[in-house]
Amino acid sequence: MKIFEDLQTTAEIALVKNNLAEEIKELGADKLLQCNQCAKCAATCPLVLAGFPFFNKRIIQAILIGARETLLNDISIWACQSCNRCTDLCPRNVNPYEVILATRRMAVREYALPALAVEGIRSLYDVGHAVYLSESGNPRRKLGLPEKPPTTLSFSNALREVQAIMRKTVLADLGIIPMEESANF
Ligand code: SF4
Ligand code: SF4
Repeated sequence: MKIFEDLQTTAEIALVKNNLAEEIKELGADKLLQCNQCAKCAATCPLVLAGFPFFNKRIIQAILIGARETLLNDISIWACQSCNRCTDLCPRNVNPYEVILATRRMAVREYALPALAVEGIRSLYDVGHAVYLSESGNPRRKLGLPEKPPTTLSFSNALREVQAIMRKTVLADLGIIPMEESANF
């Protein structure tokens, strides 16, 4: 199949001329070079519908040609919804979602985080939700629900566990957000 032959060549060039593909593989996307750019993952990706310039297939393509700065300067990798549809559909077991996670790890290592991602990390540490609206208790009350959902917001031990895990990650080493042991307790 011609496109796959072309991609093999592109992948080989990427490995010779830059180390981005190897770096992403080492960061968890070990099946990266199995991608033949068939685009099945793109057909199901919410990022495409939302109009983001980079989504699973295109992120892989950018990695293969060594477009490191282009990827780091774009917020698309942070918009992935973790739905895993792409992984379910990929005929070559590439696990595109894992490619995105590996690319995020590379971005974190280079401090290439958009403000939105930093706020998401801060919120995850403080309340256990990457996205949490402090006013969300009001509509819950109106519906007769407890103000806080039955998540880390309601179970302080669970939140402490989340925080303990986060303190063991590279995020703590990089000091992107303060991670005191007793935040909010
Ligand atoms: S990751 Fe899988 S589904 Fe997506 S383009 Fe590559 S081979 Fe196709
Ligand atoms: S996991 Fe991310 S990249 Fe894959 S289909 Fe869902 S939003 Fe798209």
